Amino acid sequence: MPWDRRAPERGGRPSAWALLPEDLAEGECPGRPAHVFSRLQRARTWLADDRLFLARDSRAWLEAHTDLSLPVILERHPSEDGSTKLVLGLTDGHRIEAVHMPRRVDDPRVTFCLSSQVGCALGCTFCATGAMGIVRNLTAGEIVGQVLTLMRALGPTLGEDLFLVFMGMGEPLHNLDHVHRAIRVLCHPHGMLLSPWRITVSTAGLVSGIEKLARMDPRPLLALSLNATTDAARSATMPVNRAWNLARLRQALDAWELKRHERFIFEYVLLAGVNDTLEDADRLVAWLGPLSRGHNLNLIPMNEHEHSAFREPAEERTQAFAKRLHEHGCFVTVRRSRGRDVQGACGQLVRRAVAGG
Ligand code: SAH
Ligand code: SF4
Repeated sequence: MPWDRRAPERGGRPSAWALLPEDLAEGECPGRPAHVFSRLQRARTWLADDRLFLARDSRAWLEAHTDLSLPVILERHPSEDGSTKLVLGLTDGHRIEAVHMPRRVDDPRVTFCLSSQVGCALGCTFCATGAMGIVRNLTAGEIVGQVLTLMRALGPTLGEDLFLVFMGMGEPLHNLDHVHRAIRVLCHPHGMLLSPWRITVSTAGLVSGIEKLARMDPRPLLALSLNATTDAARSATMPVNRAWNLARLRQALDAWELKRHERFIFEYVLLAGVNDTLEDADRLVAWLGPLSRGHNLNLIPMNEHEHSAFREPAEERTQAFAKRLHEHGCFVTVRRSRGRDVQGACGQLVRRAVAGG
């Protein structure tokens, strides 16, 4: 009874964590499907002491027909800023990263930065994950499993305090079926009941995926990694731009029917001497057009690492770039990657382990 017959999960058995009540019903799992689903998903009922509190026959059915394994924490790297980078091990031995980012000490809200793939096929030249190439997609069960494993280890205990961003390893729109399945499970009213407005999917600009996601329900928020303002510069650092250039990307955003109060997030990695001039800032605003106001623009100074020669711009340059955008009326935030002191860029911990250095 794998929910996705094109991509059955381990050994032909679906992960218990990716099944919806209707799948449990179809598989004839004993017990009320909504109840069994809710026991599996409502972390606070079992995370604390490992017991699922399920009737014996439901539990036996799950053990016989599904895979109940979760990603395991192999390494924890707590940072001075309160965030923790985790290296998680999957059952086939591959490793991924996830980051636990509490808002503040006195605030229960936490954001998880999740991975969607082991590695990434898109090969952006500033990115440590891109340097790995693609190893494989994560299954929906592994994506939900990341959330459960992080909640269990570090909290929060309630889904209502949880925010998710798909900004870890991988291009989520290259694995949209599994990413969306995980979102459906996590937003289900009998489960964690996350709001899709608290889930952000970040893409390097895979237009076919953006167009598909635009029509999906539940629909998460969209973040777009822009990172350059001319096609020549963007194609040089982000090969995906050769398939879908800046004009095509802008069209895809226009076709995304924004709901009331819905905002795009634009990410712009600042690379010293490459995309950090005031002319770039002006071109960025011109490309955004009406989207330059009222949406969020995140500037991320390059997180330097050994797999890329790009450097972080000097602080004054970053500030001048931000100021110029601000003068154009943009809502700008300079985001230093969380957990910088523990390890470099996203994908770096795992990349290092794979390279053996
Ligand atoms: N594949 C998706 C999501 C994962 S990457 C995407 O590209 O959007 C998440 C973010 O990290 C992207 O905005 C990407 O541009 C940024 N990023 C990648 N490498 C970086 C680096 N070395 N320093 C700073 N940001 C980086
Ligand atoms: Fe993949 Fe995103 Fe890294 Fe580009 S920046 S290689 S799309 S993970």
